[in-house]
This record gives sequence, structure tokens and C-alpha cells, in this order.
Amino acid sequence: MHMDILTLFPEMFEGVLQNSIMKRAREQQAFSYEYVNFRDYTTSKHNKVDDYPYGGGAGLVLSPQPIFDSIEAIREKSEKPPRVVLLCPQGEPYSQQKAEELSEEDHLVFICGHYEGYDERIRQELVTDEISIGDYVLTGGELGAMVVIDSVVRLLPGVLGNEQSAPMDSFSNGLLEHPHYTRPADFRGMKVPDVLLSGNHAKIDEWRHKESLKRTYERRPDLLEKKELSDQEKTWLDEWKN
Ligand code: SAM
Repeated sequence: MHMDILTLFPEMFEGVLQNSIMKRAREQQAFSYEYVNFRDYTTSKHNKVDDYPYGGGAGLVLSPQPIFDSIEAIREKSEKPPRVVLLCPQGEPYSQQKAEELSEEDHLVFICGHYEGYDERIRQELVTDEISIGDYVLTGGELGAMVVIDSVVRLLPGVLGNEQSAPMDSFSNGLLEHPHYTRPADFRGMKVPDVLLSGNHAKIDEWRHKESLKRTYERRPDLLEKKELSDQEKTWLDEWKN
């Protein structure tokens, strides 16, 4: 997968993309990325990428020209039109399902806004997806793009080693993940549940499944409303409700 990141602040990404699993994923060529500083595309005499909003009001708005020209340059180089993701608090709330969907693409483009926002024509003409990473407002789209990139890259084939596995993660199967324990079996009197020490894998799987359902019921009952529950899961839920 290739990613083009339109940003005025490429150096913000280095801490995330040049460390740990993201760094290894790039070295293994699971993905590649390029920064596109859209200031390089401005035709403004003073190198400006923003301007005052029509109608007045506070803040500056990103102008269409540098972003249109950057995206057109990317499109000219691509074999097929890439998916263009606009980071935006008004976008669709980001989810694991969306990460899975984006991880199937060959080419993603991210547009990171700043200041008051974007000229509306960018949204209307260039963008295929608008993503919000939560109901709060950040100063720029860079953190949002990093969140999306990290969550997509870890789903690419070969990126996660044995130390982590995506299919069991929270949200992947509609539930939060079960609790984890590691050595020692007794830490300051706090004991690991016996079943995990039993070596009985069928019982361990059942315990994990049940704990995963229980945790979701207690913390995120909204997720259960969207999930198709098995008969066994319905029985466990009824037991807890009663
Ligand atoms: N005036 C805009 C509004 O009220 O919708 C907010 C603009 S915000 C200060 C500047 C930029 O930060 C946005 O254009 C977007 O790229 C990014 N941003 C802010 N909050 C975000 C969020 N929750 N999710 C994704 N991107 C966000």
C-alpha cells in the first residue's frame, strides 16, 4: 500500500512512522509513504495556503488551489484514482470496520487541515471519505491521520508478528477483548484465574469468550446492540441480567 500525506507539518509524523511497528512495516515494504507539503504547490506570491473567510469571522480557511493542484499531481502519477481521506471533526466517526475497509486499498491519500478548516470545494470535489477521530476539535488533521495510518498499517499482511494479533482485538468481532495475564501466577496475593493455568484450551477459549462478552456488556452495551449474538452468548447475557 502507498500513502500520500498532504500536510504543512511533515515533521510531526516522524515520531510515529519512524518507530516500533510502523518503522518495521515500512522497512519490510508492507507500505510506503510520501509527504506532500501543499505549500510547495501554491501559486500565491507570498507562499500563502490560506485566506480570510468570505462573509467574515475569525480564523483562516485553507484555499482550494494548493490542495487541488497537489491532488491532481498525485492522480496523474497513479494508475487508478486513490481513495482521498479528509480528516475533519464533521466526518464519519472512525472505527475498526473503517480501518479494515481502508486496509484493502492500494493507495490512500490523507488531507490534514489546519486553522479554521477547508474551503468547501475541496470537500465537494476531491474527497472520497471524511473521517473524524472523535467528538472533539484538534488544532490540525495530523494527529487524526496518524491514528488512521497506524490502525490501517497494523492490519496489512505480515505487519503484526506473533506478539500481537489483529483478529482477536477489541471491535474486530464486535466485542471488547478479554482480560490478559502474564507471569507471575500470584502477584502480591492477586492470582491469575485457575482456568488460564489449566492447560485445557477448550475451557480457556470459553472463559475468554465469556469474559469478552461480559466486559462488552458492562462497558459498551451499545456494541451488543449492533452484534448478532449466538444462542450461547444470549444465554450468558440472560444469566448476568438476572
Ligand atoms: N472549524 C472546524 C469545525 O468546527 O468543524 C474545526 C477546524 S480544526 C481547528 C482544524 C483541523 O483539524 C481540521 O480541518 C481537521 O483537519 C483537524 N481536526 C480537528 N478535529 C478533528 C477530529 N476530531 N478528527 C479529525 N480531524 C480533526
